[in-house]
Amino acid sequence: MAQQRIPLGRILGIPIALDFSWFLVFTLLTWILASSYYPSQFPDWPHGRYWIMGAVTALAFFASVLLHELGHSAVALRYRVQVRRITLHIFGGIAEIADESPSPTAEFLIALAGPAVSLALALASHLLQQWTAGIEALSGLFKYLSYINLSLALFNLLPGYPLDGGRLFRAVLWAFTGNLRGATRVAATAGRGFAFLLILIGAWQILSGNLGGLWIVFIGWFLDNAAKAQLQEGVFRDLLSGHPVAQVMNPACPEVPSTLPLQQLVDDYILTGHQRCFLVREGDRTTGLVTPQRIRAVPRPEWNHQTAGGVMLPLQEALSIAPDASLWQALQRMDRDGVNQLPVIRQGQVVGMLSREDVISYLRTLADWS
Ligand SMILES: [Zn+2]
Repeated sequence: MAQQRIPLGRILGIPIALDFSWFLVFTLLTWILASSYYPSQFPDWPHGRYWIMGAVTALAFFASVLLHELGHSAVALRYRVQVRRITLHIFGGIAEIADESPSPTAEFLIALAGPAVSLALALASHLLQQWTAGIEALSGLFKYLSYINLSLALFNLLPGYPLDGGRLFRAVLWAFTGNLRGATRVAATAGRGFAFLLILIGAWQILSGNLGGLWIVFIGWFLDNAAKAQLQEGVFRDLLSGHPVAQVMNPACPEVPSTLPLQQLVDDYILTGHQRCFLVREGDRTTGLVTPQRIRAVPRPEWNHQTAGGVMLPLQEALSIAPDASLWQALQRMDRDGVNQLPVIRQGQVVGMLSREDVISYLRTLADWS
C-alpha cells in the first residue's frame, strides 16, 4: 500500500507529515463538533460560529496529538533513539521511533512521555476553561480539550502493546526478566486481548443502535493488526537472527564500466536477465552502484547521453553491511534508511549485494522448512 503523506515541516529535526486519511477524520470531527458538541453547550450561537469553532477545535485536537507524539520523540532523542517521522492520520498520530531503546528505563520514559504530555494538556485546558468562563467560545474550546486530552492519556495507558501502556508494561517485564523479546510477546498478546475487547464493545454498541461503535471496532481492528505485526516481527527476528548475510547475498553482482550509457545498460543487462543492481567499475576499482530506481529517475530521452557513472550512488555514500552480520540486522538497516539493497563489504571490497527480495524469499524458505 503506497503511503501518501503531505510534509508539514520539521520540529526538533523530525519530519512532520499529514497522511491523506487525516482530512477524512478532520472533516468528521469538525462535523461532530459543529453539529453536536457546540450546539449542546451553546444553543443560541449563530450557525456559522458552530462550524468555525468546530474546525478550530479539531485543529487544536490534532495539535494536542502532535504534542503527545513530540513528548515521546523528545525523550527518545535524549536517549539517542532515532525518530524517523511523526505522521498525523485517521487514528490520531504516530511517531515512528526505532525499536531499539538502550534500556528498560529509557523505554519506560519514552512511553510515559506521551501520556504525561496529554495529562498536562488536560490540566492546563481545565484551568484555562475556568479562567475564560465568561467567554463562551474559549471556555467551550478548553472544556473539549481538557476532556479529549484526558481521554487520550487514559486510552493510551491501557496495558496492551503497541499502546503506550503496553510499552510501559513491556518495559517493566523487560526490567524484571532481562528478556526484551519475551516481554514484547507477552505485551503484544495482551494488546491483542484489548483489541478484541474493543471490537466486542464496538459491536455491542452497533447492535444496540449506536453507530459510533463502528469507530471503536475500527480502532480495535487497527490495534489488533499492530499487535499482530509485533508478534510476527518477533518470529521473523528469531528466524533471521541466526543466518549471516553471506548465506543469502548475491555474490555475482555484474559490474559495468562507468562510461556505459544508460540505454545500453537497460538493453544489454536489465532486459536480458533478472539482475536488479549493478556495480560500477572505474579502472580496477569498484566505485558505486546503479539500481533501477536511479535509472528511472533519469528521463528516458537522456538515457543515451547519461552514463552509469553519472547516475551511480558512490560506494562511500551507500550504506553497507558486513557479510557476517545477521539477516535481521540487514533488514533493520534497510527499513531504517528506506533502501531496498545493501552492498556487502568486507575490508573495503564489495563481495556481494543483498536485496530486500533476497531476504524475504529466504524468509519464506525458512518458514516452510524450519
Ligand atoms: Zn503515545
